[in-house]
Amino acid sequence: MFAVPGWENDDAATEMTTCPLSEVTSVKHSGRSMSASGRIIRQGIKFESFEAFCKFVDGSSKPKVSWKDKKKHQNDDHGCRDNSDYPSIKKQKFNVEKLNDVLNEDKAEATSVNSLSTLNKLSKSEAKLRTSRFRYLNQQLYTQTGEASFKMFKKDPAAFKAYHEGFMEQALKWPDGDPLHKIIMDIKKQCKTSRLESIHIADFGCGEARLARSLPSMKVTSLDLVAMSPNVTACDMANSPLNAGSMDIVVFCLSLMGTNLKDYLYEANRVLKIGGIMKIAEVKSRFANIGVDAFIATVPKYGFKIVCNSGMDEDKSYFLFFDFKKIDTLRTKKLPVVILKPCIYKKR
Ligand code: SAH
Repeated sequence: MFAVPGWENDDAATEMTTCPLSEVTSVKHSGRSMSASGRIIRQGIKFESFEAFCKFVDGSSKPKVSWKDKKKHQNDDHGCRDNSDYPSIKKQKFNVEKLNDVLNEDKAEATSVNSLSTLNKLSKSEAKLRTSRFRYLNQQLYTQTGEASFKMFKKDPAAFKAYHEGFMEQALKWPDGDPLHKIIMDIKKQCKTSRLESIHIADFGCGEARLARSLPSMKVTSLDLVAMSPNVTACDMANSPLNAGSMDIVVFCLSLMGTNLKDYLYEANRVLKIGGIMKIAEVKSRFANIGVDAFIATVPKYGFKIVCNSGMDEDKSYFLFFDFKKIDTLRTKKLPVVILKPCIYKKR
């Protein structure tokens, strides 16, 4: 490291990253004085020697003093600078304009690099914030009643959009793909022989109403806590506005959230026709508390009969799918409690 006489300013702050490069400052480093040229070096321009630096700045002039000589003059026995003795150094001429240009170029480069990394940091923080918000809302949906969630989103509808952006981000990571695709394929297969326009489906917890968009020839009523589009009915699906016995199919695709699953199953029974199908897709790990068999044994108490289930035998399967047929209309609300484990996304 070499010092450039006349540029040093011992009073200047030692802050290295934010002070303007055009200000010539000195930085104490290992007991030695570091000049503005050190700054240039730190900004990315490296000089082999003081001579090279002079050539770069001045174009031609050779320095009159070597680094060793300068150092000899510069420090006394205690390593302190002796300002009195710079005879040959004072003769040194610099092209100050060119130097300023170089310093300003450095400054511009440093500023753009700094703003890029600031932007990167900002977008990383934003992404973190979005994920945390999604995880919080998701947790709320699983640990409170549908009614409480309905009120929560009514107060803050933007939170619902944030939740769904997070949900779709998660959906891209699912190892088994999107369970809604399987439901759509199954409905198409199962209704092959029926008049499609006569089939009435209720999509309970429809999210962005993707089911309705994928089955345009069927009558799909989309319900969710917030209506993200005009064809969605905003409600708590425990109390839907649908008529009793009006639906052929009720779909719960990852929407059995909330602590009152009992009310949703009851409502599905109410709105379905006898012989109508309740289709459920859920994350397998949610059944870890009661077990899948107990779930299959409990749902019939709500007037259903299991007709099909899949994903159970496949170890790697992430989702389970159930089809229950309505065989009875419920006359009582005294029904067994059904509790599934919340699906909480891990903090990464
Ligand atoms: N079925 C959609 C969305 C799944 S996300 C799809 O597969 O793309 C789960 C959805 O269920 C969320 O939009 C959530 O708001 C909704 N939901 C949860 N509890 C609800 C309730 N009580 N009433 C209405 N919708 C509910």
